[in-house]
Amino acid sequence: MSHIFPRHTLIQPPRIAGGDGVYLIDADGKRYLDGSGGAAVSCLGHSDRKVLDAIKAQLDRIAFAHTGFFTSDPAEELADRLIALAPEGLERVYLVSGGSEAVEAALKLARQYFIETGQPQRRHVIARQQSYHGNTLGALATGGNRWRRAPFAPLLMETHHVSPCYAYRGQQPGETADAYGLRLAREFESKLEELGPDTVMAFVAEPVVGATLGAVPAVPGYFKAIREVCDRHGVLLILDEVMCGMGRTGTLFACEQDGVRPDICAIAKGLGAGYQPIGAMLCSGTIYEAIAAGSGFFQHGHTYMGHPTACAAALAVLGRLTDDGIAADVAPRGDRLRAALEDRFGQHPHVGDIRGRGLFLGLELVADRENRTPFDPARKVNARVKRAAFEAGLVCYPMGGTIDGQRGDHVLLAPPFILDEDQTGELVDKLGVAIREATGA
Ligand code: PMP
Repeated sequence: MSHIFPRHTLIQPPRIAGGDGVYLIDADGKRYLDGSGGAAVSCLGHSDRKVLDAIKAQLDRIAFAHTGFFTSDPAEELADRLIALAPEGLERVYLVSGGSEAVEAALKLARQYFIETGQPQRRHVIARQQSYHGNTLGALATGGNRWRRAPFAPLLMETHHVSPCYAYRGQQPGETADAYGLRLAREFESKLEELGPDTVMAFVAEPVVGATLGAVPAVPGYFKAIREVCDRHGVLLILDEVMCGMGRTGTLFACEQDGVRPDICAIAKGLGAGYQPIGAMLCSGTIYEAIAAGSGFFQHGHTYMGHPTACAAALAVLGRLTDDGIAADVAPRGDRLRAALEDRFGQHPHVGDIRGRGLFLGLELVADRENRTPFDPARKVNARVKRAAFEAGLVCYPMGGTIDGQRGDHVLLAPPFILDEDQTGELVDKLGVAIREATGA
């Protein structure tokens, strides 16, 4: 009997034994093509020599020293590198161990910034429905996924949610993308006005929505309009790039493609590429300086923040992404995967939408393509896709979002950036088998 407390007490997963490029290998020797990088984590596959060597070299120097006493070369170099690559205006890096920690730090930094600048009445957070920002209580409260929130609702801080930018279901017939983006920005501004604009501290959103919607980018212009509303009312824009950042969408930061600069940005997953657990919160010089000139102390912290071994791994990952040109391959490889998906599923009766950016792609599965009718949740289509794909030797990330109060189904694809042409074909073939198994077509 296993003494592990698993994610799901009814499911005993196979044991992982090895990795080889884009493949995971279980203890029975079965190979799985990692079509989702776990959950958009493993951007370099599972056997990147340079990253592994960097970790080993750091372990031979010093594995860990507490940031209450020391900084380290890898942490300093990682922060320098991130800031050199980040959108203009982001000037400081706060290193943590994962995505939820990065989002928590962002929320607390926003709050402290307003205290230090004499606006303690600013306490409200506005985020979007059908969003996910992490599982710790602050991050969970920020997210707008009803199913995840429900059991913990009495424990969650008060937050406010507006509509997501979800063109497939939100854009009205005859409405242009511009008009849709502006309508949503107006909805956000109305929410601000309802709460009292000077009581709101931040708007939180993912540039490309991952887990809850399945790789849904905003329409062009949406984030610019949101940024304008934030600026008009002195509200901070926090972008959660935990899943979509670090090259996944074709640019190192997804928001580069939306032409906006956040005040705070959370990154994680692809930063450590799965080789080490690490996340980071990047913030503007204005925020940092307000605290430096005020209390001089960000009232937050975790034991493992700035962990030197994790930082050494992330630094090597960034080197692979930028110096070795791997991130530059994401756009063309993403186009290739998308074309293969369009080719295979473009007319599929149960694939309603194929969307995303770079190697961050999603398929929405529907009962009826014409009317975009979701499957009956009782059919558990996304769980069946996941199981059938896994049996066929493909790891993909099917999830049920919440559509009009119902659970809908989508499959998220976020393969390693090294996915080659044959592997692209293998992914699409295996996904086809899984979708047929789950939908009957
Ligand atoms: N934000 C987003 C957008 C995420 O996708 C996730 C993880 N799926 C998180 C935050 C939380 O990250 P972690 O699981 O590393 O705590």
